[in-house]
Amino acid sequence: MKKILISLMVCLFSINCVSARDYAQMQIKEMQHAQKYNTTQKYFYNQEKIMNNYNYYASKPTQNTYIKDPKIFKLPDYQEVDDAKYQAKLKADDKIYTQYQKTMFKGTIFNYNAKANGEDYYKVYRIAERIIRANKLDYINWRIGIYKEAENVNAYSVGPNYIILTTSIYDSFNNNDDALALVIGHEIAHTVLGHTQRKQDIIRSLNALKSMYKAGDISAKAVYTVKTQQYLTDSKNMEYAADVEGAKFALKAGYNLDNAVDLLSFINTLPIIPGFQSDHPLHNKRIENFYDNRKYFLEDQWPQIGKYNILNSEVMPVKLSSDRKSLTIGRNHETESKNNYYSVESMEDVYLRFAYKSYLNGEFKKSAKYFKQYFELDKTNAIAYLYASYNSEAIYKILGRSSALEDAKNYINSAYNINKSNEYIKEQYENINKLSPVVEVKNKKETKSKKKK
Ligand SMILES: [Zn+2]
Repeated sequence: MKKILISLMVCLFSINCVSARDYAQMQIKEMQHAQKYNTTQKYFYNQEKIMNNYNYYASKPTQNTYIKDPKIFKLPDYQEVDDAKYQAKLKADDKIYTQYQKTMFKGTIFNYNAKANGEDYYKVYRIAERIIRANKLDYINWRIGIYKEAENVNAYSVGPNYIILTTSIYDSFNNNDDALALVIGHEIAHTVLGHTQRKQDIIRSLNALKSMYKAGDISAKAVYTVKTQQYLTDSKNMEYAADVEGAKFALKAGYNLDNAVDLLSFINTLPIIPGFQSDHPLHNKRIENFYDNRKYFLEDQWPQIGKYNILNSEVMPVKLSSDRKSLTIGRNHETESKNNYYSVESMEDVYLRFAYKSYLNGEFKKSAKYFKQYFELDKTNAIAYLYASYNSEAIYKILGRSSALEDAKNYINSAYNINKSNEYIKEQYENINKLSPVVEVKNKKETKSKKKK
């Protein structure tokens, strides 16, 4: 009652005031707020700038005459996939999916919460199942839920195998599978990378500190404050990592990251929580992180690996969960083998990927740094030495640095020592050695000693 009275008074008061107001001024004031908060503007904020930056790198390889790419750099788990075989497999899988779809639409197994959402659950099942199979994550029963939350555009990961989407986020992207794949990929990444477990550990120790300072331990309060900030930083880094790993998952499953940009733009319209209070990065930082990392994605090889994994796995059966609130996507017993599990990229793999892609992006100095870090860990990869030699050659040609030529020689010599039969290694070996008389002498010596043999 009190509330109604107050609002009535406010109303009367304001009507009196308004008659004396300058309407144009009122509009201007509001529009100034809107310039800062307007959601259409925020939807596109930074997008163009960042995408242009990304496109710049994406288009650079064809423009830069210093870049040689015989396309022989392949990831260790890269496999050629026979397209006819793959198409046949998809067709066979489709028959099984259709069976599941029929049951879901009929609602015969969905007798409670999910009954009305058969179509939506089926969509989520198909996207999640594809991501799981393409990334060899079918070692476990996955659970996926869509929870009714009209205002909370969000998704969660719980424990090692449970993903939850709110109806808000699902409905916002129910016509964009690529965006949904990025959401689901992100949450699967949190579970696979162990973020939920890590967070629980930190929160437990924070709670212990909290009860210590509440019991009168003043020094515990200072530690608590410092550790809380550390936690927020860690949590932000986990978000960045899940964005990258999730995008990788979606890409391997054949989803289009260009279409998924809708999701990033959408996130950018959500309210901003200041960094020191939030366990998530600022939205525009996340978008930046996404595109910065995408420059170093292997966008042609990863989908191939995903195809290979799908070809060599079976459809994962779907069931309504025992509490009738989510789906269970069943573990694949049939295709289980010791090698059939997902492993995160090793330090070597990361350095090599960044070295290779930096080179293709024309970021030669960056590439040189990453190659150096890679060779500290692995000295057995002839193809890596070949590309490192190409990269140093580019630096030599652009900057005329003799140390770069020296590097190019050393790298190709290492490659040649490991693999003498590769035509590209041989070609680079001969070309680079022509560039320096010192090496030519070495060459003659080598050919001589070969003849002796
Ligand atoms: Zn997250």
